[in-house]
Order: sequence, then structure tokens, then C-alpha cells
Amino acid sequence: MRLRPHHLLCTQSYSGKGYDDAFVENMNRLVKELRKKEPVSVEIVFSTDELCAHCPNMKGKNFCKDNQKVISYDKKVTEYFHIKEKTYIYQDITKEIREKMTPEMLEDICGSCEWYQISACRKILCGKS
Ligand code: SF4
Repeated sequence: MRLRPHHLLCTQSYSGKGYDDAFVENMNRLVKELRKKEPVSVEIVFSTDELCAHCPNMKGKNFCKDNQKVISYDKKVTEYFHIKEKTYIYQDITKEIREKMTPEMLEDICGSCEWYQISACRKILCGKS
């Protein structure tokens, strides 16, 4: 599965809400796969990915309606967690992210995201409610 860096966070804290039915249906399928106990390989891409593919905000390859904002989320995730454009085991890299994440880092990365207040981001990603 191809994932852009900041989606390593969204796929952990997603709690069933999204932009529209097609997005939610796709997201449900992807997170079900990713949240399995068995290791799942994910290819990190600095571009649009399989979540974006069914998102109403995707306007073209590497072109999100909120491109500037989402590229900044990706950049912060790659810097804080030293994420490269390569293949990871999802369970390992997300565990590493949760272990390193602080509330301040999460606020810095995701503070301007419309889902930050709605989804379980703080609770799941740094154990803060
Ligand atoms: S809002 Fe942008 S970055 Fe997020 S899933 Fe949609 S197209 Fe991708």
C-alpha cells in the first residue's frame, strides 16, 4: 500500500468520519488492512496516495486542494520521525512514531487540520485526551 508520510498518523487515529461516503468506504477498507496483527508493508511516497485516490479534495497526481497545508504535514512528519521514501512495516513505524510523539509535536504537525478536534488523534498518537 502506498502512503504519504502524514497518513501514517491519520490511519492510526481515523475513527470513521471523512469527507464523503466514497472516502469513508475506502478509508475503512485501508485501515482494516493496516490494523491487522500481521505485518503490513507500506511504501512511503512523497505524493498523493491510496487514501487520496478516493478523496474529493484530490485534483490530480500530487495535487490536493490543500496542497500547501498537506505538504507541510508531510514535511513535519518526515523531519520529526526521519521518514524516507521507502518501504516500512506499518506496525513497526507507527509504534515508533507513537513512542516518540509528544503533545507539542502533534499540535505542531496537525494543529491546523480540520479533523484534529474531531478524530482520536491526541488519544491514540500520544495518549493525551
Ligand atoms: S485531503 Fe488531500 S492529502 Fe488528505 S486524503 Fe484528501 S487529497 Fe489526500
